[in-house]
Amino acid sequence: MESDSYPGAIGNAASAPVVIVGGGFAGLYTALALAESRRHPPILLIEPQDRFLFLPLLYELLSGELRRWEIAPRYDALLAGKGVGWLQDRVERIDASQRLVQTASGRSLPYRRLVIASGGCPEFFGVPGADIHSLGFRTLDDVERLQQLLEKLRHSARPLQRLAVVGAGPTGVELACKLADLVQGCAVIELIEQGPTLLPQGRSFSREQAEKALRQRDVRLRTHTAVTRVDADRLHLCCKSPHQGAAAQPPTEERLPVDGVIWTAGLAFRPPLLTPEPERDRRGRLCCEGDLSLVGQPSIFVAGDLAHLEGPEGQPLPGSAQVAFQQAPLLAANLLHSLADEPLDCFQWKDLGEMLSLGRGDACLTAAGLTLAGPAAFRLRQLAYLSRMPGLSHTLKVAAGWLADWKP
Ligand SMILES: Cc1cc2nc3c(=O)[nH]c(=O)nc-3n(C[C@H](O)[C@H](O)[C@H](O)COP(=O)(O)OP(=O)(O)OC[C@H]3O[C@@H](n4cnc5c(N)ncnc54)[C@H](O)[C@@H]3O)c2cc1C
Repeated sequence: MESDSYPGAIGNAASAPVVIVGGGFAGLYTALALAESRRHPPILLIEPQDRFLFLPLLYELLSGELRRWEIAPRYDALLAGKGVGWLQDRVERIDASQRLVQTASGRSLPYRRLVIASGGCPEFFGVPGADIHSLGFRTLDDVERLQQLLEKLRHSARPLQRLAVVGAGPTGVELACKLADLVQGCAVIELIEQGPTLLPQGRSFSREQAEKALRQRDVRLRTHTAVTRVDADRLHLCCKSPHQGAAAQPPTEERLPVDGVIWTAGLAFRPPLLTPEPERDRRGRLCCEGDLSLVGQPSIFVAGDLAHLEGPEGQPLPGSAQVAFQQAPLLAANLLHSLADEPLDCFQWKDLGEMLSLGRGDACLTAAGLTLAGPAAFRLRQLAYLSRMPGLSHTLKVAAGWLADWKP
């Protein structure tokens, strides 16, 4: 499906559009920011899904605290009248020397400038059975499958039902808390982490609050535990000693019966095939200059999770909606500068803090030196995300819905 037909005849390189691959946080918000400029070029967003997904609020969709239309607006509605064309397709190849993208449906489209913002996909680290027997947690289908599993567990009278969440990063922790609230005591939730701690990159306040929320919900956190195999009904675990040196015990093997596994342990990067071969980091992300252009390719830009960009101390920037959201206006400005042969600006990430959803009606946040936890943090988190919803008209609709539901 295509929304506005975009101006600029395909095949004429001079009037070819700025093509944006991927309509997630980086791609969609860049398209919207670019379309705000009065002198914007033709813009074509290529995205295979029909709905944008506001991933940080996916837990609230799972729990029924938010509705599907609120966190997953349709692209045709979001882009109507905005001057952005949308092609529902998947980009498979990019030929940088000819400035052409090829799509899964067989289209060959020229671009004047290209933005690659195709994000990541689950990384199973070669663990046998993980891709077949685990559920993911990043799509609407994932949420539906998980809701069906929860329904099944709630209606089954078997004792000792168990769900395992693999990976104790933010997604694993937030999901484990929400699941614990949703199973209503009919299943045990295990959170499995191969490293020594949950939220290894998180702030200490978030870690403390997360540990407290997991304890209150009887979620069993197993650190130093690697999943070595996933079967349909059990996990194979390798439990390492938490001690080092002489005090270290040899690792032990364990088989853990499970009724479901949700894999949140990592992100892999499989962008469209690009020729010539681009420079990548060890995780497969595309290496960018400070202005977000792809190394060695000034007509191609990369944004969001897929972009490998270093912060002021040389550390790679985190893959987060916050980073993608901040990149969008700068990238839109750089696209215009690039088309006008003007110098480009460098991206500077401003760390605005972190927020975690910690179960129904519960959250914690740290921002601007402030820390807050509990129902007030839950409300503030929702308001912060409301201000980041794409498009004014969608934001107003969601705000109206929340006001109507609000109970003081
Ligand atoms: C459950 C969950 C909760 C999260 N919570 C937070 C949070 O609280 N705060 C935070 O900062 N971050 C959070 N994140 C991370 C955040 O969502 C990502 O960092 C962010 O979505 C990255 O944006 P992106 O545009 O790079 O990629 P994505 O949002 O993943 O979008 C990529 C888009 O590209 C499309 N695409 C893929 N391949 C192609 C192709 N070949 N052709 C065309 N289109 C393609 C995909 O369909 C997708 O729509 C969360 C992530 C998850 C999964």
